[in-house]
Amino acid sequence: MEECIFCKIIKGEIPSKKVYEDDKVLAFYDISPEAPTHFLVIPKEHIKSANEVNEKNCEIVAHIFVVINKIARELGIDKRGYRIVNNCGEDGGQTVGHMHFHVLGGRELQWPPG
Ligand code: 5GP
Ligand code: ZN
Repeated sequence: MEECIFCKIIKGEIPSKKVYEDDKVLAFYDISPEAPTHFLVIPKEHIKSANEVNEKNCEIVAHIFVVINKIARELGIDKRGYRIVNNCGEDGGQTVGHMHFHVLGGRELQWPPG
């Protein structure tokens, strides 16, 4: 767990541009944005991926969606819309092993993804 870069971001050991923080979650801008607005929302608890969400820890997912909604309104991407992406596991394209939700907005996004 100590090698997890997102846990290090939570602890402030790696700097990030924070968008929102509370006792349960952190939102920060993606270092390599794929859209004019691109931030990540992560639980402070180290949950590896959506594959590890269960009855005990699932409340955090609902909270993350409430937080996304709040941030989207604050950043003004709620009006035209945005995309929430969770890459899960190797085939899902997950490169950081700490569950995170990408939020992308500010341009028209293509579908389906590659
Ligand atoms: P994944 O491919 O796992 O769904 O997404 C990981 C995301 O984390 C990528 O979009 C990548 O740009 C972002 N990322 C990786 N390392 C860092 C970092 O140190 N800081 C920030 N802000 N984003 C990072
Ligand atoms: Zn972690």
